Amino acid sequence: MQTFDLVVIGGGSGGVRAARIAAGHGARVALLEEYRMGGTCVIRGCVPKKLMVYASRVAQELEEAKGFGWTVGATHFDWPTLKANRDREVARLEAVYRSNLQAAGVTIFDSRGVLQDAHTVSLTDGQCLHGNTLLLATGARPDHGPDIAGAELAIDSNGFFELEHLPQRVVVQGAGYIALELACVLRLLGAEVTVVLRGAQILRGFDDELRNHLAHELAAGGIQFRHGRQLHVITRHDGALQVTLDDGQQLAADCVLRAVGRQPNSAGLGLEAVGVVLDAKGAVTVDAASRSTVPHIYAVGDVTNRVNLTPMAIREGHAFADTVFGRTPRTVDHRLIPSAVFTTPEAGVVGLTEAQALQSHPHLDVYRSIFRPMKATLSGHGSRVFMKLLVDRDTDRVLGFHMVGPDSGELVQLVAVTLQLGATKAAFDATLAVHPTAAEELVTLRTPAVRHNL
Ligand code: NDP
Repeated sequence: MQTFDLVVIGGGSGGVRAARIAAGHGARVALLEEYRMGGTCVIRGCVPKKLMVYASRVAQELEEAKGFGWTVGATHFDWPTLKANRDREVARLEAVYRSNLQAAGVTIFDSRGVLQDAHTVSLTDGQCLHGNTLLLATGARPDHGPDIAGAELAIDSNGFFELEHLPQRVVVQGAGYIALELACVLRLLGAEVTVVLRGAQILRGFDDELRNHLAHELAAGGIQFRHGRQLHVITRHDGALQVTLDDGQQLAADCVLRAVGRQPNSAGLGLEAVGVVLDAKGAVTVDAASRSTVPHIYAVGDVTNRVNLTPMAIREGHAFADTVFGRTPRTVDHRLIPSAVFTTPEAGVVGLTEAQALQSHPHLDVYRSIFRPMKATLSGHGSRVFMKLLVDRDTDRVLGFHMVGPDSGELVQLVAVTLQLGATKAAFDATLAVHPTAAEELVTLRTPAVRHNL
């Protein structure tokens, strides 16, 4: 049996970062991955998704070109070409992940790992590894939601990346990040898309005004919504699918995509038997240092179901490695988290929503701007940019920023830096505008749209 200072199970964002940093601190590290190196983000998540988003936005650029004097001839979109190019890029990144691990001195095992006891991990071929410390970084997988008749006819986000052709009519269930991002890609590439959501509005947990604005934009872009509805049954007739909703409404489809959340990959790993406590959803229970209920077993990333975002898994993996192997103990701040939803138009958010801010800041000023972006003046596109800044009147501190519009994801990254520094509204006001940009709105918001006085 080979012995390592650290055995990492899972070669996604969190596991790979932890393994490389720990090896850099001098630890003997093994990493096990049963599928492809890179995990959800690289193989069937953020990266291939964003490439598809770029592809879909070309359609919008072509549409807008006329207003700028361009005559665009006959165009043709070829899904198999996009898929092949995308898959090639994913394979390249996968190889980079692998070679970076090897360069750091990590021993890779292309195998599933299962705990035999608190220090022993068995491989599929029967080999066993001894780890003085273990790290669980097994991520999460699509949750298939309520079991319905014909569920096997639907695909999840993994299946989306395997589609060989662009489906013409798509029913999407769910209205979170994944459902909406993929719905937009399919819609812009030419599919008819209907989003079926159980609630009254998309993106639960986001700022309400942002939700309303984005929902309006997506509907204007041609996505149809069925609010307050569940899928009841899916059937196949002559090669086409038929979706019946719980109110009896029927939708014809070529593809049904269910994106109703994700669940931690913790089953069948032998965790409970060695005393690792899981919560009701199957997430590994950890403390602020990512330590499980067994002191030498740690967990990072989606398997802990804290904040399920790639940069967070990377942070957690890095902090774990520095703490345990680098003699520089540190924890990860799970509070101020910027994120983007890559719909078209995209959304970028950081900090508190208005409803959250009001819970602890009774004197809240809401600055809001909704405007036509300059590009639309010639392109004729009807989209409007939405920006909202939340300011605590007592301290002048900016508590949250919410935006819908082109490049929101890029912009929110920098606004997040200012919030990290504790920026005040006065600092925003003192900052000179960059003209002409959409971002300059952010430093020219003079009058609050709402002044809360609770
Ligand atoms: P989300 O939690 O974002 O959304 C889940 C959606 O499914 C919601 O609309 C929810 O409805 C709905 N839903 C949940 N359970 C049911 C049910 N039983 N029946 C019907 N509908 C249901 O999950 P996603 O899968 O979209 O994404 C998972 C996570 O991955 C995200 O939370 C995010 O952390 C991460 N991610 C981040 C991305 C990014 O940063 N751009 C991109 C993709 C994923 P309701 O609102 O009513 O609860």
